[in-house]
Amino acid sequence: MARVPIAEGLFTWPAAEPQLLGDRCGACGIVTFPKQASCPRCASTDMREHRLARRGRLWAWTTQHFAPPSPPYAGPVGDAFVPFGVGYVDLAGEVKVEARLTESDPERLAEGMEMELVVVPFRSDAQGNEVVTFAFRPVA
Ligand SMILES: [Zn+2]
Repeated sequence: MARVPIAEGLFTWPAAEPQLLGDRCGACGIVTFPKQASCPRCASTDMREHRLARRGRLWAWTTQHFAPPSPPYAGPVGDAFVPFGVGYVDLAGEVKVEARLTESDPERLAEGMEMELVVVPFRSDAQGNEVVTFAFRPVA
């Protein structure tokens, strides 16, 4: 069984310390995630791959209590669905990233909490591979 990423080009993989793959605009300097063909601010197409910071601060969050619409969601449904946290993590000077959180209890999360990028199991595919995705976990 292999561990395969949920999508190519989202994060460095395999990697002991994975990083999200975004873009930085060569014209105005803003950072995007995920990668974009043109800049959402100035429309430049001079977008250059940028590896995002692995740590940031929790900005907003909630708990996903039911399986999201599919597609695009392709994870467990029905009795196999497990509620998960979802939130925005502010990578200072870069971008706010919407992501799954490893913590699903909102009482254990706090604004400004330091969060770190990890890669976590998501589901199994038809070939028996473990499909992995990115998430942020509170820094102990
Ligand atoms: Zn730009």
